[in-house]
Amino acid sequence: MTEPSIFTRILDGEIPAEIVGETDRVFAIRDIAPQAPVHLLVIPKTAEYRDVAELAAGDPALLAEMVALATRLAGSHTDDGDFRLVFNTGENAGQTVFHVHAHVLAGGLTEKSVGA
Ligand code: AMP
Repeated sequence: MTEPSIFTRILDGEIPAEIVGETDRVFAIRDIAPQAPVHLLVIPKTAEYRDVAELAAGDPALLAEMVALATRLAGSHTDDGDFRLVFNTGENAGQTVFHVHAHVLAGGLTEKSVGA
C-alpha cells in the first residue's frame, strides 16, 4: 500500500491546515509556501488521480467542481475575482505532490510565480 499523500493527511486532520473552502468532493487550503499574495490549493478529497490529465480523463465533472471552487474562492480572496489556475503535471514540470491539485494564484503576480 502506498503512503497517504500530504493532502489526504491534511484532510484526515493528521497535519494541521486551515481549510478555506469545501464542497462534498473538493477542499481548499492556503499553500504553505505562497508564490503570490493569494496562493490557495484546490484539491479533490479522493487521492485517486495523480494529475490533471488523469482527472480530466477519469472524472471531468470533478475537475469542473475544482474550477468552480477556485472561482468562488478567487471571488472572496481578491478585489476583482481574477486568478491564475496552475496544474503542475509531472516531476519535470515541478509537480511534487502526486495527488492532483490546482494552484490558485492572484494579486500582483510576477513572472517568477508562473511556475509555482
Ligand atoms: P506541486 O509542486 O505543484 O506538487 O505543489 C505542491 C504544493 O503543496 C507546493 O506549492 C507546496 O508549497 C504545498 N504544500 C506542501 N505541503 C503543504 C502543507 N502542509 N500545507 C500547505 N501546502 C503545502
